[in-house]
Amino acid sequence: MKICKIYEIEGIVQGVGFRPFVFALARKYGLRGFVFNTSSGVHAEVEGDEEIFADFEFELQNNTPPLAAVDTINITKSALKNFDDFKITKSEYSSSKNTSISADMSLCSECERELRNKSNRRFGYPLINCTNCGPRYSIIHTVPYDRVNTSMGKFKMCPKCEAEYNDPRNRRYHAQPISCPECGPVVKFYDLKGFSTDKNPLLYLVCTVKEGRIAALKGMGGFHIICDALNEQAISDLREKKRRKTKPFAVLFSSLEMIKEYCDTTKEEDDALLSQVRPIVLVKKKKKCELPDNIAPNIDRIGAFLPYTPLHVLLLDMLEKPIIATSANISGEPIITSKEKLVTKLGGVIDAYVDFDRDIVNFSDDSVLQFASGQSIFLRVSRGVAPKFFKTFYKCSEKILALGAHQKSTIAVFNDANITISPYIGDLESVESIEAFERSIDTFKKFYDFSPTLLVCDKHPSYASTLWTKRQNIPMISVQHHYAHILAVMFEQNIKDEVLGVAWDGTGYGDDGSIWGGEFFICGLKSYERRYSFKPFKLLGGEASIKNIDRIAFSILYPQKDNPAAAAFLGGFTEKYLLEQAYEKEINAPLCSSVGRLFDAACAIILKQKSVTYDGESGLYLEVLYDKSVHERYDTIISESGEIEYADWFLEMLNEKPAVAASKFINTLAALIVDFAKKERKKVVLGGGVFQNRTLVEKTIELLKKERIEFFLPKNISPNDSSIALGQMVYALNHL
Ligand code: ZN
Ligand code: ZN
Ligand code: FE
Repeated sequence: MKICKIYEIEGIVQGVGFRPFVFALARKYGLRGFVFNTSSGVHAEVEGDEEIFADFEFELQNNTPPLAAVDTINITKSALKNFDDFKITKSEYSSSKNTSISADMSLCSECERELRNKSNRRFGYPLINCTNCGPRYSIIHTVPYDRVNTSMGKFKMCPKCEAEYNDPRNRRYHAQPISCPECGPVVKFYDLKGFSTDKNPLLYLVCTVKEGRIAALKGMGGFHIICDALNEQAISDLREKKRRKTKPFAVLFSSLEMIKEYCDTTKEEDDALLSQVRPIVLVKKKKKCELPDNIAPNIDRIGAFLPYTPLHVLLLDMLEKPIIATSANISGEPIITSKEKLVTKLGGVIDAYVDFDRDIVNFSDDSVLQFASGQSIFLRVSRGVAPKFFKTFYKCSEKILALGAHQKSTIAVFNDANITISPYIGDLESVESIEAFERSIDTFKKFYDFSPTLLVCDKHPSYASTLWTKRQNIPMISVQHHYAHILAVMFEQNIKDEVLGVAWDGTGYGDDGSIWGGEFFICGLKSYERRYSFKPFKLLGGEASIKNIDRIAFSILYPQKDNPAAAAFLGGFTEKYLLEQAYEKEINAPLCSSVGRLFDAACAIILKQKSVTYDGESGLYLEVLYDKSVHERYDTIISESGEIEYADWFLEMLNEKPAVAASKFINTLAALIVDFAKKERKKVVLGGGVFQNRTLVEKTIELLKKERIEFFLPKNISPNDSSIALGQMVYALNHL
């Protein structure tokens, strides 16, 4: 019997070859009807013999194009219309826009083959792409995702490209960024002395790199600064010029085989490196590794990644060696996307650069991840992953905008039961970053035709995101920072019951006005109780001084000054008198109880380290020292009110071997989580930037598994502050 069915498909189904997929499928099964894009996804009406539909629907759900991600398919029966063939028809858009925007994608294997095939018309074409790969988010001005609404709009297709674009059987059917050497953007080499050329631009770039000089290269969501990764002098020049003392640089390799020449990688790490996202993956350097130490001073890992644009592939083929590829920016600011800004901001750092005239509309940095006990931990969720889209069951007519935290800023919007999180923006500490933050808000408003009716921000009164929120004259609510950390994970892992929420990070505004960051909450989706926390210490010099980690050790040990070892340690400070005064008179000495700072104190005592220059540095150094054969931990006293006393740990540390002290410190923290989980008989949810520490996570997982305690870590979101916007959104949705 002949029937007709209507399919409403939602998710990432636009700009990923979904209509040609439905078209090919319908043709395959001899079905008739049509398919088109709507503002919420894809709509298809299909007519044919009833018995064919089971197979058709199976494939529709299971054989989708590589970049598609179907959230829901709504199927209804309809009256017969007697179509005479199957067509892709013109898109229909209503006023509400809520299709998810696809993230940028790395070069696909078919395009890579064409890129290297001498007889293909796109042989060696540095901007080759198709429906299965290439830029998306980075080139979109507004939705619907049509060429006119992208930065490819100004390029007129040549007849050959146009024919491919209009042929539903072609891989480039409706590939909006489609282009070729005849009609596409032009790649150019520039040096800073005024020379530029579009003839063999990559050859000039290769020479620059081989000569040990520093260059910039336009990527997908911004520029990279690059130099020879085997040239120690070039790397130290780069450190000097960028004033970046120790923060590790990422390294771009031409192939997995090349990575394995220098690093020992696991199966999961290989899979992640090769995945479509092509993230930076933190991997272990080989014991004898030819990569210079100044790529990642004092740590045994490096961030490795593989080419994800055709330009990368061509460059690495020519160079035959790894290169440093670090985001082109001033530290903490967003990645640079235009050559004008590149020259103004980093003209003193680079000697030359390669650019092309396909503009980057929306910036995104590389995504970064690592593995702990086989579990992935995202350190940055950005290019290839974000904007990140969640379908929810919340029914709510409000349009909500969550503004996130201060560092590692992201924003989130809620619209028609969907939550979308922006890529990583940066630390909101500079004019540039705050501008980028505001630009991201505007972009999201445009994408989703969205004007918020409710704003959600952090409780911290002076975060730039909080101040922005207060200026808007829109109803707003604020959420405690660490509770937001836990809520983000609870939402992601679909946890609804009461849990032990362990939120550990560097800093966050506590309900009592002090700096929190070592929280054990008993909490559900609606409320939390701070059950245990670390005894507050005085942060001498305030939050601004957290780079001087030895002051934290000073502050913790000062009350023990009668102990000879402590007295000797305190006596070693040149500014001892000033610190004593600050401590005694409580001048600029806010109370702090964050675990991130305890890591700093441990690092200062164990390694005699005075200061750090980047986030998480102390933890990385302690990880290098960690000795798996040490199973001891420090004794810990918990007060009646749930306050964890730790001064004795640090006293003991003064007389211990570095490896023993570092290991005991990490063991103790992991064991505390397990002790409290056993006592409270609750599942454990872990969140906050401290859980980016691989060794701590591994130890915690080991102990929790041994006790058969159920636990949850962030999976596809990061433990750090980039997930605060999501947690804030979840809070708002549970309080409406
Ligand atoms: Zn492709
Ligand atoms: Zn063309
Ligand atoms: Fe935090």
